[in-house]
Amino acid sequence: MDFRVALGFDLHKLASGRKLILCGVEIPYEKGLLGHSDADVGLHALIDALLSAGGLSDIGTLFPDTDPAFKDIPSTKLLEKTLILLKEKGFVPSQVDITFICDKPKLSPYYPEMKEKLSQLLNLPISEIGIKAKTTEGIGFGKEEAIACFCVVVIKKLDKNRV
Ligand code: MG
Repeated sequence: MDFRVALGFDLHKLASGRKLILCGVEIPYEKGLLGHSDADVGLHALIDALLSAGGLSDIGTLFPDTDPAFKDIPSTKLLEKTLILLKEKGFVPSQVDITFICDKPKLSPYYPEMKEKLSQLLNLPISEIGIKAKTTEGIGFGKEEAIACFCVVVIKKLDKNRV
C-alpha cells in the first residue's frame, strides 16, 4: 500500500474575548486564540500536514485570511474541504499524531473529546489518533501568550478496486 507522511505546524496568540477551540472542541478558558477563522491551531496544523502529504498547496494559499468567506469560519469546514481535495488525489487519512505546546489551560481532560471529534471528522478509529500537550516550563511564548501545535499525519492511497 502507498503511504505518505507529512508534518504540519501552527501557532496563534491567546487573547481575551475569544473562544478557545482546539480540534473542533470548545475548551472553557478565560482567553481564546486570535485569528481570521476560529483560529483552531490544532486543525490548522492537521490541515497543513494533510495538504503537504497529498502534494497539495498549504492552508494559507487555499484559505487565505484576506478572504471574507473565511472570516470566523469553523476550521472543521476547512478540514472537510481539505479531505475532499485529498480524496480527489486518491488519498485518505490513516493516522494522526498531534502535539500541542501550551502552558495553560491544561488540555489533558479534553483529549477524549478531541479524539472523538477527530475520529468523526477523519473517519478514523480513535486508536489511530494521538493527542498530547507539552508545556514550555513557563518560559517563551508558552507562558500564556500563545498555543502552538505540531501534527504528523500518515495518509494512504485508496485501493481503486475497493472504491
Ligand atoms: Mg492558523
